[in-house]
Amino acid sequence: MPHEVRGVVAAKKGAPVEVQTIVVPDPGPGEVLVSVQACGVCHTDLHYREGAISDDFPFLLGHEAAGTVEAVGADAGGLGPGDYVVIAWRAPCGMCRSCLRGRPWYCFDSRNAAQPMTLLDGTPLSAALGIGAFAEKTLVAAGQAVKVDPAARPEAAGLIGCGVMAGYGAAVNTGNVGRGDTVAVIGCGGVGCAAIAGASLAGARRVIAVDIDDAKLDGATRFGATHTVNSRGTDPVEAVRGLTGGFGVDVAIDAVGIPETYKQAFSMRDLAGVLVQVGVPDPAMAVELPLIDLFSRGGALKSSWYGDCLPTRDFPLLVDQYLSRRLDLGAFVTEKIALDDVEEAFARMQRGEVLRSVVVL
Ligand SMILES: [Zn+2]
Ligand SMILES: [Zn+2]
Repeated sequence: MPHEVRGVVAAKKGAPVEVQTIVVPDPGPGEVLVSVQACGVCHTDLHYREGAISDDFPFLLGHEAAGTVEAVGADAGGLGPGDYVVIAWRAPCGMCRSCLRGRPWYCFDSRNAAQPMTLLDGTPLSAALGIGAFAEKTLVAAGQAVKVDPAARPEAAGLIGCGVMAGYGAAVNTGNVGRGDTVAVIGCGGVGCAAIAGASLAGARRVIAVDIDDAKLDGATRFGATHTVNSRGTDPVEAVRGLTGGFGVDVAIDAVGIPETYKQAFSMRDLAGVLVQVGVPDPAMAVELPLIDLFSRGGALKSSWYGDCLPTRDFPLLVDQYLSRRLDLGAFVTEKIALDDVEEAFARMQRGEVLRSVVVL
């Protein structure tokens, strides 16, 4: 029997989101019904509301969630009622050209639930990133529900589903930060702080946090930044060189995603250094770089999609690091809010007042 529950819906472009009754079907083959316990508010939810991702309104927002499996369809990959899961927006298909080459973390045909969730009048909802978890229950593909240790508090564990994984993976998976590396992270919001935490756990010798807000830089030191640079009054490229014997860093991570920070990250690398772009740019943005510098400085310019994560490998690891007090997921949670407070949380996020607001159900 379908479930009528409350969910946060973006009905049309730019309009404030509202809580509506939505209809969630029982799980069919390869699907699971998850009772959502917590879901973080991410910039991408706001981008959906603004029509910056697609025009497929109405959207059911929310995609950074933890919860409990309530029911499963056939072929649910061994999941059963009561399993505690973090929901991923990448569920490798096993059959696309990337999966077949043994690179499921790039899967080009990630799985989602086949049945749509709907409004009461039957209008299908587009679930944000194939999840839609600002809702009491949501329907996802079984591969999206990744079992983790139930000792992890849901408001902390859920953050692994998007922002924390994106930042941590940008450092550890995409940037391949290792023991003794020097790292700079531009932008110390949730994703940037997770990159700092990942770099620190991976054994980086120096982790330099760059931002234009002193409060965010203070926060970055909680996650393992060894040095901070306020780039409002200082040239961050010169400052980073000064902190690395005049050479620059092995890995520079742009967690902002605008041309200015991209160029800063490009220039603050040591020879043969790696740039990792994880901040999502606006489609209208372009960047121009001297081709001779691209060649002569060597190294690599990489983009990090969802931290190049493999959820079944990485989610349980991050949860274990959290439970053993090596990864302070709790420090990302600025406030706990209700479903009705999401619109207000968007405003606070835009003003840069929070690392994460988390809806707790
Ligand atoms: Zn997100
Ligand atoms: Zn695939």
